Amino acid sequence: MVTLVSFDIDGTLEVGDPPGIVSIALVRTAKRLGYVVGSCSDRPISHQTSLWERLRIAVDFTVLKHELATVKARFAAAAYYHIGDTDVDDFYATGAGFRFLKADALGRRLWPVELFAEPPGRARP
Ligand SMILES: [Mg+2]
Repeated sequence: MVTLVSFDIDGTLEVGDPPGIVSIALVRTAKRLGYVVGSCSDRPISHQTSLWERLRIAVDFTVLKHELATVKARFAAAAYYHIGDTDVDDFYATGAGFRFLKADALGRRLWPVELFAEPPGRARP
């Protein structure tokens, strides 16, 4: 079964405000590996949708921060991850039955190796 990965935007993705450590190349790698990928952010859905359209990444879901449980109900996956930078991410992810992965340098080293088969650095242009 597939792995599902939810990305926070601000403070998490390199295109967020502020920028985070998660590269768009890494998001593309997750897509290429066949993961179910999407965003979960306080940003309005319209903002999330236009962001992914601009990046030309066909994400599977865009939800608000407190709606991760609906994502879990929509997609059957072997594992559910939410990558974010704050305790609020941790709170909602854990509450929805997701595993929370902290988007900082220390947290990145603790991410499961199977989550991204290719090191994110290799996929950078
Ligand atoms: Mg954030």
